Amino acid sequence: MKILISNDDGYRAPGIEALHAALRDIAEVEVVAPEHNNSAKSNALTLHQPLYVHPGAEGVRYVNGTPADCVHIALTGLLGYRPDLVVSGINNGANMGDDTIYSGTVGAAMEGYLFGIPAIAFSQVEKGWSHLDAAARVARELVQQVVAQGLLTRPAPFLLNVNIPNRPYEALGPLQVCRLGRRHAAESVISQPSPRGDTMYWIGAAGPARDGADGTDFHAAAQGCIAVTPLQVDLTDHDALGDWTQTARTLSARSPKA
Ligand code: MN
Repeated sequence: MKILISNDDGYRAPGIEALHAALRDIAEVEVVAPEHNNSAKSNALTLHQPLYVHPGAEGVRYVNGTPADCVHIALTGLLGYRPDLVVSGINNGANMGDDTIYSGTVGAAMEGYLFGIPAIAFSQVEKGWSHLDAAARVARELVQQVVAQGLLTRPAPFLLNVNIPNRPYEALGPLQVCRLGRRHAAESVISQPSPRGDTMYWIGAAGPARDGADGTDFHAAAQGCIAVTPLQVDLTDHDALGDWTQTARTLSARSPKA
């Protein structure tokens, strides 16, 4: 089994080092990860500057680009083969609810998924890396289970978003499959005068959970469970297709020339 590992916190982050160490004796692993922190870069690709790949310690490679850049160039020529699985993380902080839209951790996994390869994004719920050993063990066990159940050889790939509470391994609850919750809008932008008299703006912190009902990732994680959400990429609002079809008929009945 061949696994491509990436992340968004940068190739020297403790989370990717722990993930690499947890997976390298159960699979052939390659790490291709961003040089610098690329949190909240989503699926961004770098199109207007060249990308360079550099060797780091222990066979790791790092790139002056985004998480999606790393996976994209790995899959389109750098590796020279097709991995069986793409894993991303372990991220420094939760990627639940609306976070998944912004997350570079999810973006790296999604890039693999878009190429038809099963992919898993791993995040720790709290920042700061406490109990990272437990999260890495969970990641390793989940990968082993996915392999043992033959899920990598199914015709359709999957994309899993996994959030692991920062607890000792023995204190973690079971895996709970859940939908994404929602967050409140982010906090206000923070403005400050720059040393040269301009106004600088800092994006505010993410909002707290707004929909953390039973069945959501927020709820599962708050109970100490490992929150597992299967994701898809189709953004179509399928429930609204009928209504909008009706609305479009009304709109097109009004000819601008009438
Ligand atoms: Mn991150």
